Amino acid sequence: MIDDQSPVAILFSGGTESTALYRYYRERGIERLLLYLRFGLAWEDAELAHLRKYYPDEECEVIDCSLSNLYPWKESVRTVADNILPNRNLLLCTVASTHLKRYHPRILRVAMGTLGDNRYPDTSREFFDRLEELLQLSMQEPEFRIETPFYGWRKGEVYRKYLKDTPWEERIFTCHTPIGNEPCGTCMKCQAFVRMKEG
Ligand SMILES: [Zn+2]
Repeated sequence: MIDDQSPVAILFSGGTESTALYRYYRERGIERLLLYLRFGLAWEDAELAHLRKYYPDEECEVIDCSLSNLYPWKESVRTVADNILPNRNLLLCTVASTHLKRYHPRILRVAMGTLGDNRYPDTSREFFDRLEELLQLSMQEPEFRIETPFYGWRKGEVYRKYLKDTPWEERIFTCHTPIGNEPCGTCMKCQAFVRMKEG
């Protein structure tokens, strides 16, 4: 039987929510495996550089599943509509659970940092409940879970509880158009990060 202390795989990007998620499970003493999925997006090299810099001792596995032909890079991501990658969470959970089934069959919990932002079509808890049920059926793993502990929180609440005024803040990397491995300071994600810190 799995329970709240069972090992968990964290879908990790190093952004605000997944950094907080890492801390959330670490504080509870839960064994963690970080999973980073590479889809071929423009910011992934910079995210991975941050991950290796700030989490050198953490167990982290990078899964290559390039979708660059399906998720073309958009030079100007200015709105939420520009930022929607179709089936993104469906793919993340499906690939992650397939990886676990193959390499870590004892890990039956996958954690997502989603807040349930209703501007995106694939972040509701109903969506994750239905996907969880489908993956349980598909993998014949009735205990498989998709966990969203920050569901319903605002981004600023997550930041203030887990990331503000700690060494954690400098670990966060969130940018669509990094310059080298550093945030550009002007893109939609960089601006949202500044607003979040100010708010
Ligand atoms: Zn940026």
